[in-house]
Amino acid sequence: MAKREYPLERTRNIGIMAHIDAGKTTTTERILYYTGKIHKIGETHDGASQMDFMEQEKERGITIQSAATTAVWHGFFDQFEKTPYRVNIIDTPGHVDFTIEVERALRVLDGAVAVLDGAAGVEPQTETVWRQATTYDVPRIVFVNKMDKMGADFQMSVDSIHERLQVNAEAIQWPIGAEDDFEAVIDLITQEAYYPVDDLGEKWEPRDIPAELKDLAEEKRNTLIEAVADVDDDLMEKYLEGEDISIEELKAAIRRATLALQFYPVLAGSAYKDKGVQMMLDAVVDYLPGPLDVKPYIANDPKTGEEIDLIADDDKSFAALAFKIMTDPFVGRLTFMRVYTGTLKSGSYVQNTSSETRERVGRLLQMHATSRTEIEEVFSGDIAAAIGLKNTTTGDSLTSVDHQLILESMEFPEPVIELAIEPKTKADQDKLSNAIQKLAEEDPSFRATTNPETGDTLIAGMGELQLDIMVDRMRREFNVEATVGAPQVAYREAFTKTVQARGFFKRQSGGKGQYGDVYIEFSPNEEGAGFEFDDAIVGGVVPREYIPSVE
Ligand code: GDP
Repeated sequence: MAKREYPLERTRNIGIMAHIDAGKTTTTERILYYTGKIHKIGETHDGASQMDFMEQEKERGITIQSAATTAVWHGFFDQFEKTPYRVNIIDTPGHVDFTIEVERALRVLDGAVAVLDGAAGVEPQTETVWRQATTYDVPRIVFVNKMDKMGADFQMSVDSIHERLQVNAEAIQWPIGAEDDFEAVIDLITQEAYYPVDDLGEKWEPRDIPAELKDLAEEKRNTLIEAVADVDDDLMEKYLEGEDISIEELKAAIRRATLALQFYPVLAGSAYKDKGVQMMLDAVVDYLPGPLDVKPYIANDPKTGEEIDLIADDDKSFAALAFKIMTDPFVGRLTFMRVYTGTLKSGSYVQNTSSETRERVGRLLQMHATSRTEIEEVFSGDIAAAIGLKNTTTGDSLTSVDHQLILESMEFPEPVIELAIEPKTKADQDKLSNAIQKLAEEDPSFRATTNPETGDTLIAGMGELQLDIMVDRMRREFNVEATVGAPQVAYREAFTKTVQARGFFKRQSGGKGQYGDVYIEFSPNEEGAGFEFDDAIVGGVVPREYIPSVE
């Protein structure tokens, strides 16, 4: 049996979430830089994003893929040199069109870093992803990025958390200077200032807090203590008795409160200027949960109907969730999985209890920033990518063959936007069908319907940008030449009556066939007096404007 590389309690599965442009990609790159570079694990790559696998993501500057990258953290002061932490970073996209991808990532991570733009504070999509993280009970720390930017204002950012997110959050750090003068970071817990001593921000040294900031730093430490004491009885007791609160006591109380989702520590930095990212990584290990600190994932035993708590334990039978399918240019189809309990060896069989198939895991990979390593075995609480699973799609449960379990599955919302796509040639039609199938396996929020009479294809998804990217990927990755119609708002009614007849709704305006006819199945109404739309079973995605005429 292979040996577990990192103890469970030294594992962190985290996501980085943000409003677009707040600096998620830059922060992630810096994390990969500091976790790799300093300890010579790999070289960084042309300054290009390691997480953005797809060409168009680079062109558009947004991150869509929810890949997972494994990093190793030795500590800001090398304090974990002997027993480092494994930090798996599960990429979560920032654009609102991909909230589905965010949800999927939130399912498999234990904690998250919310990145804010220090000049903007909480923004609309921060609220969206924050709400989603709350739904999944994900403890969070907040990294106020861009403290070097014009208009950066740390106090405003903290206030915006209170006002817009309505949560108990306080600074555990304070910036020294802002905008062009952003120089260093005060650790409010230790009451020490840290200044970078080289241009790359790799080495820092502790110094006294500047005289003019001493009072402020002390006041902010008290604010922090009060906020944590409010939700932590142990700390409250000490605080009320007027006792000195040690660094260790305060850190332990912050951890308890953060894990209990009662408190959110706020940090300051500038990923771009290489400031604060290493201290943020220390906060990740100090305050965010390991796999044993979160409430257990619930699975169902299909034989007994019994609900089972999946607690990370290598000796239990294997149970994992496939949370992302990616097509990799080198090795083909990769299935990213979060192992909740048990272990999985490469070459062994798994039961896909969602598709009821048995599959063999060819190889197991761990993805690092600049390399990938083949591993013999993946352990509970960890994340890996499997090669060779052909029948597994996003959201499927993978368990041991002997002890089959069904994990609470992921729900995918109905598409909200659609467009017609027409292949240029007959050869493109086959390529198009293949592309749609592959892309839908990767992203269940992307769907297609075909009009059985005209053969026209409609693709549907969560947003215009997502469909744009899908069409772009079809062209790049599958060589599909096609013309596309304008996006339409999609709308789907869930009707329950039985199918009795078939018909078509035609568009009221615009030439027939431009977007394809929408195929529906409908049944006569109760009285048998003709057809009513309310009795229809919709076989596709129906834009509202299609509805008026029945032929
Ligand atoms: P994402 O959309 O959240 O992934 O944001 P990116 O990391 O792509 O950053 C968006 C823009 O902000 C880019 O032009 C970055 O160079 C810039 N940026 C990121 N971090 C910082 C920072 O700390 N300070 C400043 N001034 N700009 C930053």
